[in-house]
Amino acid sequence: MVDFEIRPNRKPAPDAERRAALDTAAFGQAFTDHMITLRWDEERGWHDGRVEAFQPISLPPSASVFHYGQEIFEGMKAYRQEGGSIALFRPERNAARFNASARRLAMPEIPVETFVHAVELLVRQDRQWVPDGEGNSLYLRPMMIATQPTLGFTLPSNSYLFCVIASPAPGYFRGRTGPSALSVWLSEEYSRAAPGGTGFAKAGGNYAAAFLAQRNAVDNGCDQVVWLDAVEHTWVEEMGGMNLCFIQSSGGSQTLMTPALTGTLLPGVTRSSLLQLAGRLGLGCDEGRISVDQWRKQCETGQITEVFACGTAAVIAPVGQVRGADGGWTIGDGRPGPVTMRLREELIGIQYGRIPDEFGWTHPV
Ligand code: PMP
Repeated sequence: MVDFEIRPNRKPAPDAERRAALDTAAFGQAFTDHMITLRWDEERGWHDGRVEAFQPISLPPSASVFHYGQEIFEGMKAYRQEGGSIALFRPERNAARFNASARRLAMPEIPVETFVHAVELLVRQDRQWVPDGEGNSLYLRPMMIATQPTLGFTLPSNSYLFCVIASPAPGYFRGRTGPSALSVWLSEEYSRAAPGGTGFAKAGGNYAAAFLAQRNAVDNGCDQVVWLDAVEHTWVEEMGGMNLCFIQSSGGSQTLMTPALTGTLLPGVTRSSLLQLAGRLGLGCDEGRISVDQWRKQCETGQITEVFACGTAAVIAPVGQVRGADGGWTIGDGRPGPVTMRLREELIGIQYGRIPDEFGWTHPV
């Protein structure tokens, strides 16, 4: 296992500043006192692991990340449990996805135990930054960038920097009594990911290419964009930063249907957890496919009763309205539905240690 040298920040934020960070900062704008850095090169492999003060990274402008975007990242959270302890949620799944992203971007993999150890070290060092209160959490952002100072691109970079930073995060629906339903915009003009591309990887380039469509969604009065498949522009894939789930009813039974992992959408940790949880709550589970037309028609016939988005940020966010260039429709009565709220309650309960975790998902730090 790689060793990490601990170099404590000599000027940690005063208590008041730390507390204010959660109350006032928008998501992802305040950072804890420390960060993790770990370097890789061909001779030494992973080396020079450190827990050090959160600070700027210095790189020559020729570093290949600035030119060819060889960058991957993860998003995960530490949750303050009842009684004050802290737990991560399925961190080894994020490590595995990080390595899947690394392989696709021709970057070195990092041993799962080193990735998890690095995240744990940061959470321990900055444990005072993990807020209490259900909905609040410490958001963790592992990332890796290509650092070779060269404009050459016949081969991937021969050196990399792995880094983990942390940001106290308020609940997604901060200030509201419960989750409010999102309105979503069907992106019929732009595509996120094509077969053979990088859709399944958490690569920065996927997000760079998505901003324009996300701005379109906002310009059209919607909260988030829904991506369709890049070949037929027909099949529903996922949202900008969340997977999509459909509750379908027939003959008195209900099924959670979510688009299958075709390689063009991100395999969400929340998505996979909900599939397991739904089974335990007596719902059917289906990883299938659904077209935009079927989505609309099944809402009209009442076959689809609820739709929600799921991901680390919001856990579960109900979807109330769908809009696109040809108009739109409402899902159910446009408000969060009972199955959505039940699943949300269960998953949050497990994450915050209120509901016993029979799946072994919580990872005490
Ligand atoms: N899809 C995309 C494009 C995402 O960025 C995310 C957030 N990581 C998700 C889905 C949801 O994944 P997770 O449940 O692991 O947060």
